[in-house]
Amino acid sequence: MPPRSPAPAPRRRPSSAASAASAPETGTAPRHFAVIGAGLAGIACARTLVQAGHRVTVFEKTDRVGGRTATHDSPFGSFDAGAQYFTVRDERFGQALDTVPGVFRPWSANAVRVLDATGRVSAASQPTNEPHWVASPGMDALAQAWAQPLLQAGNLHLNAHVVRIQRDRLDAGQWQVHAESADGAQQVVAGFDGVLLAQPADPARALLDASALKTPLVAAMANVVTAPCWTLMLAFPQAVRPGLTTLGPQWNAARSTHHRIAWLARESSKPKRSSVERWTVQASPAWSHEHLEDDSERVQAKLLKAFGEVTGIRAEPGYVALRRWRYAQTTQPLGESHLWDGKTGIGACGDWCLGHRLEDAFVSGLELALAVTAQFPSPQAAVA
Ligand SMILES: Cc1cc2nc3c(=O)[nH]c(=O)nc-3n(C[C@H](O)[C@H](O)[C@H](O)COP(=O)(O)OP(=O)(O)OC[C@H]3O[C@@H](n4cnc5c(N)ncnc54)[C@H](O)[C@@H]3O)c2cc1C
Repeated sequence: MPPRSPAPAPRRRPSSAASAASAPETGTAPRHFAVIGAGLAGIACARTLVQAGHRVTVFEKTDRVGGRTATHDSPFGSFDAGAQYFTVRDERFGQALDTVPGVFRPWSANAVRVLDATGRVSAASQPTNEPHWVASPGMDALAQAWAQPLLQAGNLHLNAHVVRIQRDRLDAGQWQVHAESADGAQQVVAGFDGVLLAQPADPARALLDASALKTPLVAAMANVVTAPCWTLMLAFPQAVRPGLTTLGPQWNAARSTHHRIAWLARESSKPKRSSVERWTVQASPAWSHEHLEDDSERVQAKLLKAFGEVTGIRAEPGYVALRRWRYAQTTQPLGESHLWDGKTGIGACGDWCLGHRLEDAFVSGLELALAVTAQFPSPQAAVA
């Protein structure tokens, strides 16, 4: 069991305006819900609904679960291309982690440094009383573990990009979901009592617009702001020689005030990872925004140069990969844990409701599911 951080603030928020306006129906039969997105919010929402005895079908546009807790594999070991580590502040998140022991390990990132613009250490930043955890073998392992029962039951469709939600033609009280695979194959799945969007806020709003759905969720989402992040991943296999295990700085993780770089972490310092020297470098939100549409070669060259300036590592990497996150980090959250329009049966969750951390995503998905089950209680609660 991971130690919890001390004195967590209660994370329950007042329910949304949409929830308050809804007229809850009664009924105890199991219902069928579509969840769009298999990031941590979608998985938390889906597993909670299943535990309450409902049916769930999850649609994920990519070929893997985990969303922004992505693991990038290379011949020299993996990189956490999105989320780097997590903390545990909500008891319910801790309880969910207890169900997947062995999937996470402590990372001594309490040695995080703060660097000035030239790469000089200006502070050791982290309060030491809040442990940092990483999933193992990569950050996507958490979502994978929690999604396993859904995958095994055939209730999680990968490579299924939802492009439209419509009222069911045969039953106006229900919903149907239109999805496309990467090769253009189309699929329509009908018979849903509700549709729960677990995407970043902008794509969720775009999907509601494309579906011409009239729901107060659209206006609520409009105030959420997210920032992009260009992420560079570097491996230096030449550094693995007897007597030379690391290149450059002696710290393993740092926040930086360099105008291009906000965060650097030595992936090889994370537990149970390959020992080949590997770094993940996250560009600052402002620089990522300014260069969002630049071609990737140019972005790579600029970030590589900045990496050398900050770390002093001038060696040529043996492996380079770049990833652009268009919706990486919430800069202005919704301020409520979820959105649920009980009149239409449309809901939304994601980290953007509460903040920018993966625990926020988990709590948001959980609380949306609890709001749904408050309206649709099921007598067939399964064993968790
Ligand atoms: C570079 C970076 C660094 C980060 N660092 C940290 C960190 O150190 N610690 C931390 O706690 N958090 C960190 N985060 C944030 C953390 O990753 C997120 O808060 C969390 O993963 C969000 O989960 P989510 O489920 O809300 O959204 P996502 O993970 O974005 O999941 C949404 C899912 O929906 C899918 N989807 C979208 N549209 C559709 C559609 N139309 N049809 C079907 N599927 C769709 C997507 O493919 C995706 O899988 C970081 C994020 C990034 C990008």
